[in-house]
Amino acid sequence: MDTRILLVEDEEHLARGLRFNLEAEGYRVEVFERGEPALERLERASAPPIDLLVLDIMLPGISGLKVLRRLRKANNQLPVLLLTARDTEQDIVDGLDMGADDYLTKPFSLPVLQARVRTLLRRASHADEEGTLPGPFRIGESHVYPDRFELERNGVSMPLTAKELGLLSLLQERRGSAVSRGEILREVWGLHPQTRTRVVDTFILRLRKLIEPDPSHPRYLLSVRAFGYRLIEEPGSV
Ligand code: CA
Repeated sequence: MDTRILLVEDEEHLARGLRFNLEAEGYRVEVFERGEPALERLERASAPPIDLLVLDIMLPGISGLKVLRRLRKANNQLPVLLLTARDTEQDIVDGLDMGADDYLTKPFSLPVLQARVRTLLRRASHADEEGTLPGPFRIGESHVYPDRFELERNGVSMPLTAKELGLLSLLQERRGSAVSRGEILREVWGLHPQTRTRVVDTFILRLRKLIEPDPSHPRYLLSVRAFGYRLIEEPGSV
């Protein structure tokens, strides 16, 4: 089946170049100059499904970040590659916090874009395969059910995003050992380990609110100073 990429980019010249190159790689490409019609396209159930969204942040009308927020709010987990201008580091941090999967800073080279696109599409197709998620596991009073994207604590179920679950699953896989920030960035976000972002710490804080009795004095999800994070071992946990 065709792999479809939706490109939202208002710079006509760049959009044309990207489309040409992505089509040359065998992808179907749909281009929109603005966020609103792109969202309508994504929400139209009768249209062929989109496999990847390449989304410029600075757009006329609603911004790329607003588009992303709307998508994730609607629980749409479509892989998103953000395109940003060089001087908008805060946009990158916000974008990653909102659930973007990767970003590229303009100007970028086409081979790099093509490599990122391939990685995101490959990761998405792996995530669709069965058996890549761990079985249910326990953290303190919480039970994590990866297949349902849910965490249950004291009888209350809470939904987990794909990134929250990815982070918990990685720490669970390496339970008892410290996992570095860089490794988390690479494994969960697909980012270069040296990427300057606080996204990992932001997500850890969010997870602590879900699983820790006192999030400011964590008992289960511990910081390892100047390195990363560790999920404590729990004897007899399932
Ligand atoms: Ca733009």
